[in-house]
Amino acid sequence: MQEKIVTIGDSITVGELAETLHLSVTTLVGELFKNGIAATINQRIDFETATIIVEELGIDAQLERKADTGEGEVVTRPVYEVSANASERPPIVAVMGHVDHGKTSLLDAVLDNKTAEGEAGGITQHISAYQTVRDGRAITLLDTPGHEAFAALRQHGAVLTDVVIIVVAADDGVKPQTIEAIRFARNANAKIIVAINKMDKETANPQLVKTQLATEHNLNPEEWGGDTIMVEVSAKTRAGLDKLLDNVLLIADLEELKADTDVPAQGLVIEAHMETGKGSVVGLLIEQGELKPGHFMVAGSTYGKVRTLLDFKGGALKAAGPSTPVTVTGFKELPQFGDTFVVVKNEKIARAMSEQARIEREKAAASTNVTGADLLKMMTQQHEAEAFNVIVKADVQGSLTSVMDSLRLVDTNGAVTLRIIGSGVGNISENDVRLAADEHTIIYGFNVDLSPAVKQLAARDKVQIRLYKVIYELLDDARESMESLLAPEVVETQIGTLTIKGVFRTTKEEIIAGGEVTHGKAMAGLLTRATRGDEVLAEMELTKVQRQQQEVKEVFEGDMCGLSLKITKKVLLEEGDKLEFFTRELVKRTLS
Ligand code: GDP
Repeated sequence: MQEKIVTIGDSITVGELAETLHLSVTTLVGELFKNGIAATINQRIDFETATIIVEELGIDAQLERKADTGEGEVVTRPVYEVSANASERPPIVAVMGHVDHGKTSLLDAVLDNKTAEGEAGGITQHISAYQTVRDGRAITLLDTPGHEAFAALRQHGAVLTDVVIIVVAADDGVKPQTIEAIRFARNANAKIIVAINKMDKETANPQLVKTQLATEHNLNPEEWGGDTIMVEVSAKTRAGLDKLLDNVLLIADLEELKADTDVPAQGLVIEAHMETGKGSVVGLLIEQGELKPGHFMVAGSTYGKVRTLLDFKGGALKAAGPSTPVTVTGFKELPQFGDTFVVVKNEKIARAMSEQARIEREKAAASTNVTGADLLKMMTQQHEAEAFNVIVKADVQGSLTSVMDSLRLVDTNGAVTLRIIGSGVGNISENDVRLAADEHTIIYGFNVDLSPAVKQLAARDKVQIRLYKVIYELLDDARESMESLLAPEVVETQIGTLTIKGVFRTTKEEIIAGGEVTHGKAMAGLLTRATRGDEVLAEMELTKVQRQQQEVKEVFEGDMCGLSLKITKKVLLEEGDKLEFFTRELVKRTLS
């Protein structure tokens, strides 16, 4: 029989390997555990480790490392320079500012403006970028649900924002997130326009806002001889909105924003979620080129063919050019927020590029997980403790300190390490969610609130947030969560032993032998370990037991019997070899 050949990358998760080999995860976890690796289903093991484990399990499969794509195509992402033929493109504007200063209201008002110009409103729920038109010219507006979204884009090296409108409420002045917004804008090298909002309010004090910005943040209004455009507006009455947009267009003119349209489309993933019936629904912001239905696109480690191409209102498009926010369906899997997307010639290249990106990501991940070299070390050593990451937020400093101190005291006998990767006084923020980044970190809130926006972001990024008002309940939860990280313990129970008296037949799959039960009993279904002196020969399964040529359920100490043993790799037993019959269970470990 031909050995099955299984191709895997440089590393693979325990879950994936089990699936590929049609094994149960528990079998695999059990085998890893026997080799000193306490692995969870999501843990990555490298190619060498996987090979050793497959061999140990005696599976008829040979692992092969995935070779280069061999497509002969260049699979690095192209970078396009703006050519001499490049044409004008709409400015990309991010609206930022302190909470409640009127970002959303301003954006709504600006987009209503557009409705007033005769186009349908109805902003779709899922896209965070819009377009409005002023004097026949498009302006792209990015709704940054939190500044973190913007920070994440920057993290990915994306300098996609031309202008940042910093909204400051005239009745409230400069606040922490205003300062954050200024910092982001400067880091992103974007032009700043300050929109002093809520001018309709009696308590509005634009002079104070300007003074604060000028004296504390080096943003000097033009009217004072500086170069920062500051526009007094009211999202409520719409006063000043046209002037605001005119200034955006003025900057666009000064900056001579241009992009090529006759190059393969390229841009950023700004939104991604799954929808029943539609599959992946992905928001893209096109930076260059033109995207059309039917194009093959790659983003991160996924690819697809543009099935539907929609504008921000959900209307079908035949093509979309630079600075246009669109929603597409057709990606095979969800790309990540902030991934670059690029259009390529055909599906083959798309697949090869995404595959390469996946291998690179796996390589990066593998370097922090189990490697073949670690395996030998781990066989003799205690495995490294699992890490349990938490972020703690509390209403006041006193409770924060006591929650953190108590968490550190949860005793795990060194099996799980608790790491507080962030803490602070105040409500759980989008920053906290961003810091948590994935499902392996839990955010604990003690006597604090959770805003719908943060909740939504957490759900999207699969970050777990748990709110408590009683410290013991919080600690119980932490203890349970830590227990769930512990790999199960392998428990073997000895049932009986036997000495081989004769071997009648050995095939690739089976051994028929006879022997005498020396201790306990033997029955069909038990796991069996064959030993010769100190040497373990193999593990097999006892499938049939006979006494005096009759098949029986079990045989006991002192009985002579016939045995059928199922083997997974060839082993030659001989008279005098010992068999141990046992059961093996995986038992959930607890911390107490
Ligand atoms: P965001 O948190 O920055 O998005 O702020 P919102 O747009 O949600 O606005 C916060 C509050 O300020 C809401 O109650 C708005 O109705 C109010 N608001 C926003 N803009 C104005 C304005 O120009 N004038 C007045 N009077 N209230 C405003």
